[in-house]
Amino acid sequence: MTDPFAPLYDGFGRLHTSLRISVTDRCNIRCFYCMPAENVRFLPRREILSFEEIERFARVVARMGVNKLRLTGGEPTVRHGLADLVRMLAFVPGIDDIALTTNGILLAEQAQGLKDAGLHRLNVSLDALNAETFKKITRREGFERVLEGIFAAQRVGFEKIKINAVAIRGLTEDEVVPLGNFARQHDLEVRFIEFMPLDADGAWQNDQVLPGHRIREILELGILPLVPLPRPDPSQPATDYVFADGRGRIGFINPVTEPFCGDCNRLRITAEGKIRNCLFSIEEWDARAVMRSGGSDEDLANLVRSCVAAKKAGHGINSDEFVKPARAMYEIGG
Ligand code: SAM
Ligand code: SF4
Repeated sequence: MTDPFAPLYDGFGRLHTSLRISVTDRCNIRCFYCMPAENVRFLPRREILSFEEIERFARVVARMGVNKLRLTGGEPTVRHGLADLVRMLAFVPGIDDIALTTNGILLAEQAQGLKDAGLHRLNVSLDALNAETFKKITRREGFERVLEGIFAAQRVGFEKIKINAVAIRGLTEDEVVPLGNFARQHDLEVRFIEFMPLDADGAWQNDQVLPGHRIREILELGILPLVPLPRPDPSQPATDYVFADGRGRIGFINPVTEPFCGDCNRLRITAEGKIRNCLFSIEEWDARAVMRSGGSDEDLANLVRSCVAAKKAGHGINSDEFVKPARAMYEIGG
């Protein structure tokens, strides 16, 4: 009989070692590429996994070889006691890297607590350095607080903070050079992410994608040539560069124009405990049902294994047969 805790290979030989945990579907802003503008129906509290359930799930997948966790959402910092969860996860045997993706609005208040709890790495999302453009995208105030959050995180000792910037044609071209300079001035890596069809309004159009190669041209023309950096981990979604004078790192995450599914090592669990093998998967495996009906760790491991076994070769965004998932980004966990 197969060991239920054996390493997590899928049908294409990809080993899964990374888990993204959505800790909430709630958010304090309303980015148009992710959430509806108003009247969002959030999950009731009892449907969300408790910290104990999240920790148990992490322990099980860690026994199967997962060593990296990323907390996301919705906006993870709006979940009460996030640092306590980080502390619990930091004790899970086998986990050696815990990262957080946040919009940064509550980061100034929480950075120290998260650092003390054992958070290793931070990605802060910021698509624009122009406050008006920020507001157009997020449909909320908060630009200054994000900046304060980034600098507060640096002060408490987070290093190599990455800035996630979703790039949208016709909207953020003018942000590219300022963001490149921001990376240079503040010792950050700015990662430009192509807009994916995961918006709640279902309004995504291929011509709204500002391709990574175009951003690279804008940066090289406006600042300096970019030099590729070594790629020690082939499963990392970004291709990284540094400006020719050594100041300022830039990453490109090009899921639409250059899909990187061939090296994917990621699994996801939604806030209500559904396991997904891809951002774009339409099938989900219900870990919460297993946990709340008295299932054993072996049962949970077998469920994870079925999910990984069913993983497709790629997301197929560019194919005619592509079917957009029913859930939007904030409901899945980016
Ligand atoms: N609220 C946190 C934040 O914004 O950083 C974490 C969750 S958010 C869903 C995770 C990342 O996904 C963010 O960097 C966000 O910009 C990105 N994202 C959301 N919707 C996207 C889309 N349709 N295409 C590309 N990236 C998207
Ligand atoms: Fe909230 Fe993040 Fe989605 Fe923006 S991208 S609406 S910050 S969950």
